[in-house]
Amino acid sequence: MSQQYPAANRIVGLETEYGLAYSARSGRAPEVDEVAKHLFQPVIEWGRATSVFLPNGSRLYLDVGSHPEVATAECSMLGEVLEQDRAGARTLEQLAQIAEDSWEDSPHPGTVHLLRNNVDSAGNAFGCHENYMIPRKLAAARLAHTLIPFLVTRPLLCGSGHIRLFDDKPRYVLSPRARHMWEAVSSGSTRSRPMINTRDEPHADAAKHRRLHVIVGDTNVSEASTLLKVASTWLVLDWLEAGGGSDLGEIAHPVDALRAVSDDADGYTLVNFDNGRRLSAVDVQEYFYAQAAAHAQRSGAVERDPLMATALTLWRRTLDAWQAEDLSTVATTLDFEAKRRLLERNAARRGVDWSHASMRRLELAYHELAQPGSSSLQEKLEAAGLLERITAPDAVEHARTNPPRTTRAFSRGALIAAAKTCGAGYKADWMSFRLTDIAETKVLMPDPLEATSQAAAELIGALPLNRESLGSGEHVRGVENTATDIDTVFASLPARNMVPGGL
Ligand code: ATP
Ligand code: MG
Ligand code: MG
Repeated sequence: MSQQYPAANRIVGLETEYGLAYSARSGRAPEVDEVAKHLFQPVIEWGRATSVFLPNGSRLYLDVGSHPEVATAECSMLGEVLEQDRAGARTLEQLAQIAEDSWEDSPHPGTVHLLRNNVDSAGNAFGCHENYMIPRKLAAARLAHTLIPFLVTRPLLCGSGHIRLFDDKPRYVLSPRARHMWEAVSSGSTRSRPMINTRDEPHADAAKHRRLHVIVGDTNVSEASTLLKVASTWLVLDWLEAGGGSDLGEIAHPVDALRAVSDDADGYTLVNFDNGRRLSAVDVQEYFYAQAAAHAQRSGAVERDPLMATALTLWRRTLDAWQAEDLSTVATTLDFEAKRRLLERNAARRGVDWSHASMRRLELAYHELAQPGSSSLQEKLEAAGLLERITAPDAVEHARTNPPRTTRAFSRGALIAAAKTCGAGYKADWMSFRLTDIAETKVLMPDPLEATSQAAAELIGALPLNRESLGSGEHVRGVENTATDIDTVFASLPARNMVPGGL
């Protein structure tokens, strides 16, 4: 199986926290934590917990603060990241539909709103965390020295745009997340929120790897923005790991610089380095683009993953647009610009200014997932050619129940699907899997780049699976060719048994 895919060099996973709200058609709307619990009822029934690993290898959970979160399975291809991320949104849409249906006859029937955004009306922030596997030997100081100037200016590539109030006066800024950042690097994640979180949980062999946890990014709606966010960071890391590194200097005040880049939203904000150098935000990005693109050509990253080439083209196009002070060429790819155009059209059509309530509503609508029976604004914009779509709808549908094939998520997904089919309880985490009622069934999966596992295949082989429902039954014998067997087991499982509420 693995030889079908080019050798991967990195694991990436996205954690997306969703904003949640409820509007009641009648009666008093329940508090949001009650809505969250109701939304997760099928998950609890399915997995006996509010935190579950699904057959597509992802983790679905309800954290403190009533923000449903999907942490995608480990991915090693950019297409997998986009498909898994979008599949997570589809799963939440399904849960919302079930929640609405089952409250239809309650005293407060209404609509569940799920939002891919970063701030709520009370000013609370929630995030989209990016996880990149990096070598342990990459010194933390070197990493931060290069990555901070990159991340401070990265909103030019993937800012999702935000109507921010300055003394009650609205201004459209680049990143909703920027003003919720308080440090460049630290181990905190809430009160002293840093751009890079240093909590050391590699979910892999700790002697060899670390998991870089970037928490400064906006949640994107545009797939092209997500692509550029992940791919550009990946390529900067590739360059760094190969011995490269920024010689721009340290940014004197990284948090102030990030906020200035976001608030001015013109690409020309000057970033001050401690060696006296002053560069515009777009020139800082030009520097990283030049280094990362040259390295990508040398390293073969572009051949390994065709979407890397797409991302590099998009990166170039995005910087050209900022340089030209004309973002029309990225109006269908960059969230900031796609949303700005929508808001401007609304203002012109209604003859209102940016403080009008319809502007805030439209901003939220841009981020909202689909309502039962209708399309989301994102889908409408995509259908109208106003937002580029990269994933194929059937690939997203597939990713809702199937794990990426290039990482250990593939084994995890097969194990979960098999356990579910025979009604066995299980406990999973990123590194391991075991059946809860049968001793000595723990399967360790320490290498995230290892898609198939002998131990996983053996456990699946030993499960009392309903062979008839699995077809010929050939594939559930003990296993030599593990890849084929897991693949067949997985492929033959009825999809409707797989996702909470899918059915
Ligand atoms: P929190 O929600 O508190 O931030 P967390 O960051 O530890 O917790 P999870 O929500 O469990 O994490 O998500 C972990 C993410 O890390 C997933 O998207 C997963 O795919 C990804 N991941 C798993 N293993 C690795 C690895 N070895 N390297 C990089 N990413 C990984
Ligand atoms: Mg998480
Ligand atoms: Mg996290």
